[in-house]
Parts: sequence; structure tokens; C-alpha cells
Amino acid sequence: MSKHHHFTWPRLPDVRHQVACHFCDTLHEVALIEEGTAAHCKECGSVLYHNRTSSLQRAVAFGVTALSLFALMLIFPFITMDAQGNVSAVSVPGAVAGLWQEGGELIAISVALFVIVFPFILLASLLYLCIPLLFGHSLPRSRPVMRIFQAFQVWVMVEVFFLGAIVSLLKLVKLADVELGIGFWSVAGLMLCLAGAISGIDRTELWDRIEIADHLRKEAA
Ligand SMILES: [Zn+2]
Repeated sequence: MSKHHHFTWPRLPDVRHQVACHFCDTLHEVALIEEGTAAHCKECGSVLYHNRTSSLQRAVAFGVTALSLFALMLIFPFITMDAQGNVSAVSVPGAVAGLWQEGGELIAISVALFVIVFPFILLASLLYLCIPLLFGHSLPRSRPVMRIFQAFQVWVMVEVFFLGAIVSLLKLVKLADVELGIGFWSVAGLMLCLAGAISGIDRTELWDRIEIADHLRKEAA
């Protein structure tokens, strides 16, 4: 009825896409849907994909915020401890170095991977894809970057779990007065913003946008 009020995302006209239902594996042709709506499985009714409103803007806004929080996390203390008047502040990189020196190499590597490396890979790949797409462009190697982005999404949940585990651990430790610092709140905000960025744009939409932008870039070359 009011077709011109709603928008679907751009995609190549002659490409057929299929998507399998996460729950019952039924294959569906990907049909373009209006902004703000979702496509559902015709067998079990579960959501196949969304067309999010202002998806790219949302992903980039969350992504840029997450990047700022990532920088704060590296600089500011994660926790400050007061053991009998002996105050010490530990940042995330400081904690990694400290754990390593104390012989906790495995924990040091886990913290480095889950709190620094994986979030950065996720964030960098998201921004690499989404910022140029805001202008209808794609950068070289967008497809492999998209695969990396998808592969690392699963780790966000692990990070949230990890953060919860650290907090409960700190509460158990009664050796010192422990206060959470700016670095801690930056990690917490970072995880929330990463989740917001990822859920801001559906991967079906992202793939279509990358394909058409890649196609236009190759035509222009
Ligand atoms: Zn289904």
C-alpha cells in the first residue's frame, strides 16, 4: 500500500539466496522484506532474518563507541586494591603481564585473547565492513573479513561469561579491598556495545550489501 515509506536493503538482482532455519533446517529463498520486519520460517515460525531499521548506522554507532571503550580499557585501571594501606591499580594489560610473570601463563593468554584480541578482531572487522557500506562501498577482501566477523561473534557470549566470572572471583577474594575501576566499566560497556553492534545488522543483509558493493567496485575498476 504505502510502498515508498518502507525500504529494503540493496542487493544484486540476479542472485538467488537461500537461508536454512536455525531450528528445523528448512531451506527458504531469501525474499526482501520491509524495514523493521522479520522473515519467519514457514514450517516452525521461528525468525529467519531481520531487516533492522537504520541497521548500518546502528552497527557503526555501536562499533565506534565500542572502539573508544576499548582504548579506555587499555589505559585505565581494571581494579584498584587496598591491602593494608598498600594501594595498587591494575589495568587489563597490566594484569596480563602480571599473571604471566607469576606463572599463570594459561590465564594470562586467556585474558589477553578474550578481553583484548577477540573483541578487537570483531570490532575491526565490523567497522571495516560497515563504515564503507554506509556510502555504498566495500573495501578489498570484504568477503573473507565477513567470514572472520561471523566466526568471532560466538566469542562475545564467552566474554560476558568471563567478565561475570572475574567479578564473582573478586567478590570471593577478601584479602584486599577491591574496587572496580574505569577499565572494568569500559570492558563491561565494550561487551554491551559489541552485542549491540552485532545485533544491529542482520548477517543476511550484510552479505547482500557486501555483494552489491563488491560488484559495483569491480565494475568501476
Ligand atoms: Zn523452522
